[in-house]
Amino acid sequence: MIQIVLLGTGNPLPDPNRAGPATLVRAGSATLLIDCGRGVLQRAAAVGVGAAALTAVLVTHLHSDHITDLNDVITTQWIMSFAPATLRVVGPPRTSDVVTGILASLAPDVAYRIAHHDDLTWEPDVEVSEHTDGVVLDTGDVRVLVAPTDHRPVHPTNAYRIEHDGQSVVLAGDTVPCESLDRLCAGADALVHTVIRDDLIRNVPLQRLRDVCDYHSSVADAARTAARAGVTTLVLTHYVPALAPGDHDQWRALAAEHFDGRIEVGDDLHTITI
Ligand SMILES: [Zn+2]
Ligand SMILES: [Zn+2]
Repeated sequence: MIQIVLLGTGNPLPDPNRAGPATLVRAGSATLLIDCGRGVLQRAAAVGVGAAALTAVLVTHLHSDHITDLNDVITTQWIMSFAPATLRVVGPPRTSDVVTGILASLAPDVAYRIAHHDDLTWEPDVEVSEHTDGVVLDTGDVRVLVAPTDHRPVHPTNAYRIEHDGQSVVLAGDTVPCESLDRLCAGADALVHTVIRDDLIRNVPLQRLRDVCDYHSSVADAARTAARAGVTTLVLTHYVPALAPGDHDQWRALAAEHFDGRIEVGDDLHTITI
């Protein structure tokens, strides 16, 4: 059994009801956090998961909305561990630069806390590994694979496939349809895909917003990817524009035109079990 929790279904615009992009996957012995958008640990707390419980953080790409709260995950994992513990972060090249920058920004706080707590004698320990292809994690009962996606000019970017006990879920992140994502998705039980309503966004008289259509999948794109790969369940998230109350069926119908499997459209904390 694999459990998928949509921790944050929002987009870069602050939303009173939606946290930033983040998804939790619980499979066997692993608790994996995919992306760390705004409010991620608040949402994780709602399902009883603290930063210290994370097996690894998988970063799809370094767009700010997907990593705004990585600093909070690093600090909270450190301060809530009662023995030295390493936070594993997997991401595309340059993830290490970003983490180094975050740690530099936290230096005053780290010094205050070490000075204040006698039992805290170590600094945050973050182990970053940068990959764009292959197996990135193998715990024995859970395997994580990565493949490159196409979110140019944001480059490189990753999608992840988490496998456990004969089941698998792919987290596509932000991408347009591409062959390497199709390959990673082949036969997966679930595909979690970020989506935009290009039919709505293309009509907004604001070029900066219309630009997002260049490098994201529309609902139809995501549905076609799921269909090509023979995926069983398509999970939509990172709704642009924000999913309005009562609009769930409309988004689901757009996907159903191209994909006849199970389609999940949900708010923060929506949980899917496969
Ligand atoms: Zn992005
Ligand atoms: Zn995004």
